[in-house]
Amino acid sequence: MAAPFTADQRQRYARHLALAEIGPGGQQRLMQARVLIVGVGALGSPAALYLAAAGVGTLGLADHDRVRLSNLQRQVIHSMQGLDQSKVQGAARTVLSLNPDVSVETFAETVDAHNAMELLRRFDVIVDGTDSFAARYLLSDAAYLLRKPLVHGSIFRIEGQVTVFLPGRGCYRCLYPQPPPPGAIEASEQVGVLAALPGIIGTIQAAETIKLITGVGDGLVNRVLLHDTMAMTFHEVRYRRNRDCPVCGDRPSVHALVDQHAVNGVEVGR
Ligand SMILES: [Zn+2]
Repeated sequence: MAAPFTADQRQRYARHLALAEIGPGGQQRLMQARVLIVGVGALGSPAALYLAAAGVGTLGLADHDRVRLSNLQRQVIHSMQGLDQSKVQGAARTVLSLNPDVSVETFAETVDAHNAMELLRRFDVIVDGTDSFAARYLLSDAAYLLRKPLVHGSIFRIEGQVTVFLPGRGCYRCLYPQPPPPGAIEASEQVGVLAALPGIIGTIQAAETIKLITGVGDGLVNRVLLHDTMAMTFHEVRYRRNRDCPVCGDRPSVHALVDQHAVNGVEVGR
């Protein structure tokens, strides 16, 4: 059966169409997919660029922030042109200049317990590009409650990690039952971050998202990939669903989104 590609699409996606692992069927799945990227910063930038290039049909971009000069050292979807504008607006412009086939939906707002379910519900795969523990727990809880796959990534100074949470196979709370105490982990403003590090981690998030959509390969499920840029090493640590997890365990106590204080007993800052 001939896939309904235009002449331009046959050229644009020629390397995917030629790839045994993707082919016309996989490319069609990509073009029909709806992916939400929460946080269009260090990790969201490379993830959005590669997912747009790959031809993901609809990209949701959620971020409440504006582009600052200090972002441009690593947030490669943004540019001088977008300085002081909303991140989602600038990112949408870049995505459309790269691939006008992509339909972009922007959400210039903070994703919180009040709007997360409504927002995530509309997408097939969620990519976590946030930079706080509170946001990561929130996304993980919402994704599990909606039974959506979540592609998690995080970075700290010169290290990063990435994993995929599939509903029923473990969640962020299984991996990290408690957030670190407030102040234990310093923000990137204080400790810095190596420019190319989020490119490595965010690009792996994009690759895992493409694999999830097309159903190929071995996903980073039940294993977290840890990267150290200075040593230039990748280590894999396996984890399992925690049967006592308050969200995805055998006897869950959390059935709706709640503020992080109520779940963790510890307030965490954004
Ligand atoms: Zn869990």
